[in-house]
Amino acid sequence: MSAAGKITLVGIGPGSVEHMTARARSAIAEADVVVGYVTYIKLVADLLEGKEVVRKGMTEELDRAVSALEAAREGKKVALISSGDAGVYGMAGPTYEVLFQAGWTPDDAVQVEIVPGASALNACAALVGAPLTHDFCAISLSDLLTPWPVIARRLDAVARADFVVALYNPKSGRRTRQIVEAQRLFLRHRRADTPVAIVKSAYRRRQNLVFTTLDQMSEQDIGMLSTVLIGNSSTFLRNGLMVTPRGYANKYDGLAQGGETRDGEKPGRSLSTGLLGWLHALREQVDAGRSVAELACEHDLPEDYIAATLAEPMDGAVEPVGAEDADER
Ligand code: SAH
Repeated sequence: MSAAGKITLVGIGPGSVEHMTARARSAIAEADVVVGYVTYIKLVADLLEGKEVVRKGMTEELDRAVSALEAAREGKKVALISSGDAGVYGMAGPTYEVLFQAGWTPDDAVQVEIVPGASALNACAALVGAPLTHDFCAISLSDLLTPWPVIARRLDAVARADFVVALYNPKSGRRTRQIVEAQRLFLRHRRADTPVAIVKSAYRRRQNLVFTTLDQMSEQDIGMLSTVLIGNSSTFLRNGLMVTPRGYANKYDGLAQGGETRDGEKPGRSLSTGLLGWLHALREQVDAGRSVAELACEHDLPEDYIAATLAEPMDGAVEPVGAEDADER
């Protein structure tokens, strides 16, 4: 029996050699077969001597996973190259699906390793400032495999929930209206002047950054190699940098060390409007005669949630001393 093969899913980062991890390079160096798009293969050209190289086009993901498995069963080490991270809109999902269908389990002789890489959202965020320093999410506008109502519902939900959003696959030659619809959905919840950054080919030769606003977003030059970052209601643009505040202003009067905490706030403790403080305030309001329905409306939360959490005994709402991480500001 030949030595067992291996499939390695290698995320190579945004597209420059400097932003590829050492493990990504060594995983490619260890492989007998390297599979990936031409553009990415070129980036690792120096590592490919003596290897079988399979240059693939765009829509052959399942084929690629199947042939990787076949080669690994023959005892070969196969590296499947993804841009960014292989687990973010990449080959990791389809590969496991194909493997499971073929009866593969983690005990199989064929090993699988995923090598993480910086995803487009990390790369693009680093170029535009600090847009993702509070809650964010990623949505792909590609409707090649996802029905539009599913995408639209997610856009609507995150726009309403005030997430910063990274839009992957925002537009292609054939898919031009999706970004217009995304803008329409966002404008229902967010200000027209919400900052938006469009980053094309981050850390590649044709890298280009454009700052704009939500109401102008869909008129910009956006393509297959662009990622669109839409700010939340606190994101601002200053000196050519897009920044989403972490929320220090909710707690401190000054940003620098030694800044006074605002009235009612303590360093290293949840905000007075954090979970426990908020619950106490709710309880007082209910005791004073406010209805749960009113409070639900005021906080934009489901009535049954407010009712259920108020039904819990309040003694759980006393903070044990030292329970919080002292490093947390
Ligand atoms: N696995 C990749 C994403 C693949 S989906 C990752 O983790 O980054 C392809 C989409 O990723 C593109 O349409 C674009 O939105 C985004 N993308 C990938 N590389 C990029 C780059 N260098 N600059 C800007 N966007 C990029």
